[in-house]
Amino acid sequence: MTITPSQNRTLFNELAAVLRGGQLLFPDDAAYEQVRQLWNGRVKTRPAAIARCLTVQDVIHTVRWTRAHGLPLSVRGAGHEIFGRSLRENGVVIDLSQMRSVTIDPVARTAQIQAGATMGNLIEAAEKYGLATATGTISGVGMTGLTLGGGYGPLIGAYGLVADNLLSAQVVTADGRLVTANAEEHPDLFWGLRGGGGNFGIVVSLEYRLHPLTTVLSGLLLYPVDQARTVLHRFNEFIATAPDELTITSGFLQTPDGATVLFLSPTYCGAPEAGEQVIAPLRTFGTLLVDQVQPVTYNDLIHGLDAFTPAGRHYYLQTQSLDGFQTETINALIEHGLPLPSPFSMINVHNFHGAASRVGASETAFALRQDHLMVELIAAWEPQSPDDEQRHIQWAQHISQALAPYAFKGGYINLLDEKEQERVPLAFGSNYERLLDLKRKYDPDDVFHSTIGHLTPKEKS
Ligand SMILES: Cc1cc2nc3c(=O)[nH]c(=O)nc-3n(C[C@H](O)[C@H](O)[C@H](O)COP(=O)(O)OP(=O)(O)OC[C@H]3O[C@@H](n4cnc5c(N)ncnc54)[C@H](O)[C@@H]3O)c2cc1C
Repeated sequence: MTITPSQNRTLFNELAAVLRGGQLLFPDDAAYEQVRQLWNGRVKTRPAAIARCLTVQDVIHTVRWTRAHGLPLSVRGAGHEIFGRSLRENGVVIDLSQMRSVTIDPVARTAQIQAGATMGNLIEAAEKYGLATATGTISGVGMTGLTLGGGYGPLIGAYGLVADNLLSAQVVTADGRLVTANAEEHPDLFWGLRGGGGNFGIVVSLEYRLHPLTTVLSGLLLYPVDQARTVLHRFNEFIATAPDELTITSGFLQTPDGATVLFLSPTYCGAPEAGEQVIAPLRTFGTLLVDQVQPVTYNDLIHGLDAFTPAGRHYYLQTQSLDGFQTETINALIEHGLPLPSPFSMINVHNFHGAASRVGASETAFALRQDHLMVELIAAWEPQSPDDEQRHIQWAQHISQALAPYAFKGGYINLLDEKEQERVPLAFGSNYERLLDLKRKYDPDDVFHSTIGHLTPKEKS
């Protein structure tokens, strides 16, 4: 069903009347364009209405009303999904970005968040009590989207994926019921929420385990690009025995003076003195151009990385997951990845290891539970250079294809291009059938169609 702007207000009067505190925005409202914007300025999708929910009841009413009228529905948290699946053309968006409160229980060491909370919201609230949990790397990313896909980050070795720290969630199902999912209640749904994507309902709140942590030893180490082969080989040997407390992000970026450099970005979350010793060998891997490693609060570390990925720029991304850096993959990165296509583009590699690798492949929906490197090929260009789009997309796709023969067949569902739907079953591996069963149980009509890692309940029974 397609709705014209003029039909909008009449059709939606009923929904507007039942929202408690929430607000409906239409394309001709002054605030619409600003609220519609996602982190990736390239996404131009225009929904028919945006329901800015403030309460769980707002979410329930909007799900029921939207379904009763047969309209496409999507869910938006912090709006950082790269391909824009939190918006659907002519659909209704359930926008949770104003539901972002965080409550810390310092005794139980838990955090309760509303589903629109960002990583930054949680980190800032927990820091006041000397606590933190596993997060991703950029403060504006939504905790919910991050958790539903898994959640790689700088504390992964010590605390596991973000999803591994989830204790409980409240979910509005496709039929508008509010259910709790945890180890005791709806354990099947709880299993699926930890890596299975936003396929089963709208999460309205989440509870996380917290860990004592305020300061980490972290920062960039930069090496000349012509030493990249040597440094990456040594890095590959080093991470095989690195302690859980140390997680190292690596990759290529361009410095402000235009030089392309190789970077290692270690984060050590144990005692800083021990960390200095553990990190010391990294300084001998090549000629250090820059050494910024120092004690820093976790909060400052995460906010310090925001400048690399401002909202509004145009982005395209491809990923491949490797079991390590071998000669072939290092060659592919250097020969096909460099030079980077713009000063803002980068190659960023997460190191999955430690606590995250010790969780069994069937314990949560996130299936790739062995040590690996998740390579992000991030193309970024300014909106005023639309001619650059194809060149940037081709750059990312080209290296991705060069890495593919050496990569795991699936990938990280949070970062799969919507045109890569065939990689979704491979990413879930032996968990895929169980996830389809969950989909049939909780969302048989495929209401949450626009989600990351989209599962289709096509084999309806
Ligand atoms: C700058 C940047 C940095 C990133 N860094 C990392 C990183 O360090 N580690 C990592 O693992 N990933 C990272 N990602 C990827 C990130 O995990 C995904 O893009 C994630 O989907 C973002 O979540 P969001 O809530 O902000 O997204 P949104 O765009 O708001 O939502 C995306 C999708 O998530 C689902 N979803 C969101 N909220 C809900 C909800 N309440 N209920 C049900 N479904 C929901 C829906 O399917 C929705 O379409 C990064 C992305 C960006 C843009």
